[in-house]
Amino acid sequence: MPHTSSHLMRAYAPQPVSFIRGSGVHLWDEQGVEYLDAIAGVAVTSLGHAHPEVTAVITEQAGMLLHTSNVFRIDWQERLGERLCTMSGMETAFFCNSGAEANETALKLAKLHGHRKQVAQPKIVVMENAFHGRTLATLAATGNPAAQHGFGPLLPSFLRVPYNDIEAVRQAAAQEPGIVAVLIEPVQGEGGIRVASPDYLRELRTLCDQYGWLLMLDEIQAGLGRTGAWFGHQHAGITPDVMTLAKALGNGFPIAACLARGAAADLFSPGQHGSTFGGNPLACRVACTVLDIMFRDQLQERAAVLGARLLGGLQEALSDHPNVISIRGQGLMVGIELNQSCGELVRRALDEQHLLITVTRDTTIRLLPPLVCNEEQIDDIVVRISRLLSPVTRYSVHSSKS
Ligand SMILES: *Cc1c(COP(=O)(O)O)cnc(C)c1O
Repeated sequence: MPHTSSHLMRAYAPQPVSFIRGSGVHLWDEQGVEYLDAIAGVAVTSLGHAHPEVTAVITEQAGMLLHTSNVFRIDWQERLGERLCTMSGMETAFFCNSGAEANETALKLAKLHGHRKQVAQPKIVVMENAFHGRTLATLAATGNPAAQHGFGPLLPSFLRVPYNDIEAVRQAAAQEPGIVAVLIEPVQGEGGIRVASPDYLRELRTLCDQYGWLLMLDEIQAGLGRTGAWFGHQHAGITPDVMTLAKALGNGFPIAACLARGAAADLFSPGQHGSTFGGNPLACRVACTVLDIMFRDQLQERAAVLGARLLGGLQEALSDHPNVISIRGQGLMVGIELNQSCGELVRRALDEQHLLITVTRDTTIRLLPPLVCNEEQIDDIVVRISRLLSPVTRYSVHSSKS
């Protein structure tokens, strides 16, 4: 399908398939072909496609009230703020429309926190291979030179260290007195499914307390049950000072949140931050319903059970595969790293296995199935991935003989 004839900016290179309908873990294209969705719109549709209760609440609220503006109190926003704070141990919430915007909010909080401490040039510690978004500030926080290329000069507020390396953070602390916060994903998603060790997160918490830094967790991809806990940092038994959420919060309806507590809870005064669409009645009511369903069906527990099944199944099926370097993950965030570029597998998975996957960091297959999968569907993902990867074996054996 020639992309050049389109009037879309070439920010993406989409696959030629276009889906017109979904239900649960399945999607159908224009020809009526059924696909199994192992990526959930990149960790967005955790409740599956066209969830009937989500559809019903969107329909009902759309018939009542979409938007009024933050000039006025918004009841559903207050309720959602209370819900999220109760489930996370946070104290205050700010609502916006995308993950990047939530992280922008967190970064502004870090700067305010620094200036309150009389730090003239506040610095934020960020990680190698991090992904925090595409706006200018979140791009600067992102640890991917290819994504940053062409957009300099970048915001100079960041200090980058290796992930899962507490000594590197200690060294940064000793060298840079201007540090005011650490921003980190509990599991790096775009970065290739890398899980922060619980000890490392606990040590980060201790360092932040010691220096008066804000510990800011980007839970946009890992949060809301996906890793087998409501939030990824809960595996380490810590509470952050700031946490951002987006992706699964509206099950596809755009909404994001920045939550804060303690020193970070009340840094904004009126006029310092805002968002026209942020926290509108429709988005907030949808998110309340999403949380209702997640709690009622205990989907964080399901993610733990299904994630163990997926990881175990893949390890059993692929442990001897000559091209597989590592199979890793937490809950329903799973990565299969190969010893070669494998971007073309996305297309082949669609064509040959009718399976939706993504590839990240060029060599890692990423699986983020909906949390509402059943056991058979998880096993089906394993079977389709095994079939998908078997020709790679043949290719590899063949080429090594020639
Ligand atoms: C997707 C993602 C973002 C960016 O979210 P957008 O809604 O695309 O702006 C930020 N951080 C993480 C960890 C993400 O996975």
